[in-house]
Amino acid sequence: MTTATHVTGLTCVVCAKTYSPDEVDYVCPDHGDEGILDVGYNYEAVASNLTKKALEADRDQTMWRYRAVLPIAPDAPVPPLTVGGTPLYDAPRLAGAVGVGGLWVKDEGRQPTASLKDRASAMAVVKAQERGASIVTTASTGNAAAALSGLAASVGQANVIFVPASAPEAKIAQLLAYGSTVALVDGSYTDAFELCMAAAAEYGWYNRNTGYNPYMTEGKKTVALEIYEQLGWEAPDAIFVSVGDGSIIGGVHKGAKDALALGLVDHTPRIFGIQAAGSDFLVQAYEGGEDVLTKPPIAANTVADSISADLPRDRVKAMAAVRDTGGAYLRVSDDEILAAIPTLARGSGVFAEPAGAAAYAGVVKAVDRNLIDSHDKVVVIATGSGLKDVASAMKAVGATGTTPMRVAPTLDSLREALANN
Ligand SMILES: *Cc1c(COP(=O)(O)O)cnc(C)c1O
Ligand SMILES: [Zn+2]
Repeated sequence: MTTATHVTGLTCVVCAKTYSPDEVDYVCPDHGDEGILDVGYNYEAVASNLTKKALEADRDQTMWRYRAVLPIAPDAPVPPLTVGGTPLYDAPRLAGAVGVGGLWVKDEGRQPTASLKDRASAMAVVKAQERGASIVTTASTGNAAAALSGLAASVGQANVIFVPASAPEAKIAQLLAYGSTVALVDGSYTDAFELCMAAAAEYGWYNRNTGYNPYMTEGKKTVALEIYEQLGWEAPDAIFVSVGDGSIIGGVHKGAKDALALGLVDHTPRIFGIQAAGSDFLVQAYEGGEDVLTKPPIAANTVADSISADLPRDRVKAMAAVRDTGGAYLRVSDDEILAAIPTLARGSGVFAEPAGAAAYAGVVKAVDRNLIDSHDKVVVIATGSGLKDVASAMKAVGATGTTPMRVAPTLDSLREALANN
């Protein structure tokens, strides 16, 4: 087994005790499932390898170009699918429409399985193979599942996936096409998560679960490093990202901290976490100053299935991302989320699933609340493709009153339809 010598240890987010990577597998033994670990690095050693100059010369455009600050050995084999290197689009019409100084859309729908989760699942596959795991498993609302399924298929790694039976059909189709062993759980994501955790313990499977496996944040943080690099190492004023379990936002924060520690940027953006009104655990905790470790779960219900979470698993890191950077947690209604799908698509060409579009709805809300001003440069992370949930997209365009023309295959019929359109 190869080792990542630049990793200094794994620190519990609850008690701050630090363990060596060989000492623990997933969480702090003293704090169980709440004791999520944060991976520490010897930044001095990393900084000598990860320079702007070295990156400029590197032809690898995938997430592995940041391998010097990832918890893997320099020569660790990585899956062949192209993960990372997604486009960051300047969207001046959207910037003008919402009234900000600049707005960029990071299109994570362009990942191999069409969501940002590929960044974490690629990491999971590397770690599972490093350990020689026979089976890797996860529970998911759908995208983490599809991501693990696809990345595992790319290397022939056996896997077992738990998703709520209510997951959108496209996401379930991905799992079946990739050949995973799929358990459709009659219950919520929470039920699927608990069952997966129990099964992993029972059978000794490698556990990719979000907010449990400390390495998932490390994969996800590459989105922040990429955004910075694409902006010429000029950090934006604010980053907007939707939040379910809180692992992506924790990753965005981690990437920001890494970049600052490595001297790649001179400031950290304010990070805004956007939740659906029906799944607003973190907004409630933020507004009420509640302790996320003692706050009881809510009963989540939203059209944005990817951010539906009764109890955000990575809530400690998720809250720190917003508090430490001077951002905010904001809630947006399902109607606002659905409306954002065509607005984002028409204003930038990026077609996002509800959870992806929610981040754009959050920008509108933040400008409304004067949390963002007309000079601010903001980045919206469109976390997943609109093709993941066509039913919601159809509902969204229906609400805008957009309907196709119905025509006979003749110019006369078309002429009449155009006149009445
Ligand atoms: C998973 C996911 C999110 C939320 O990420 P968390 O880490 O659960 O907060 C947002 N959008 C999409 C498309 C996702 O798949
Ligand atoms: Zn602890």
